[in-house]
Amino acid sequence: MLIADNLTNIKNKIAEYEKKYARIAGSVKLLVASKAQSIEKINAAYTAGQRLFGENYLQEALVKMDALTEKDIIWYFIGQIQRNKTRKIAERFNWVLSVADDVIAKRLNDQRPSSLPPLNICIQVNISDEVSKSGIKENDVFKLAALCQQLPQIKLRGLMAIPAPTNNFRNAKQAHHELFLLWKKLRNQYEDIDTLSMGMSDDFEAAIAEGTTLIRIGTAIFGDR
Ligand SMILES: *Cc1c(COP(=O)(O)O)cnc(C)c1O
Repeated sequence: MLIADNLTNIKNKIAEYEKKYARIAGSVKLLVASKAQSIEKINAAYTAGQRLFGENYLQEALVKMDALTEKDIIWYFIGQIQRNKTRKIAERFNWVLSVADDVIAKRLNDQRPSSLPPLNICIQVNISDEVSKSGIKENDVFKLAALCQQLPQIKLRGLMAIPAPTNNFRNAKQAHHELFLLWKKLRNQYEDIDTLSMGMSDDFEAAIAEGTTLIRIGTAIFGDR
């Protein structure tokens, strides 16, 4: 299995689905989810041109970042955030897609070094709550967004979600559509909202059909973890 070939394959599919669903060419970006993958594999993806990488576990991510400091990688934190881990996340990452409560937002703001640009964040929404425990309820999104607007060292860029896995394309589209509507409401209310991150290896066609701007792919590039 060649990482470079898999990347090309995913990028071709993104282009194909952008066309199929009347999305603007280049409007869907690819974030490679590299949790549990070695530095060598990340390097292989980097050499093939990939720049956006997402990590779930802070300790693991820091080891990789330290080994790859020379590279112009844009690092995204996409895992659950423990309160005592926010400082390093605020110091080392470019983006955090998994902000799901007030305390975490405030801590990231307070701990983001003033020498760095504001930390880009997305609010993680729990769209199908039985399955995944992370993310906040749709109803609470606007309260958290209002708080984020008050915090100068973080910049709210949009929403992230992990809809429940389903083999049914129509159901997948429906969940993604619900997220898109919520995101559109947010975008109408605030400046700088340009990111809707939904879609993984098994459901990125539905996500592209419904308006994702940033898919997060692991398995389809690296194989099973
Ligand atoms: C692991 C992970 C992904 C990638 O999932 P695949 O099914 O392997 O493509 C995407 N988003 C998050 C938050 C993840 O933890």
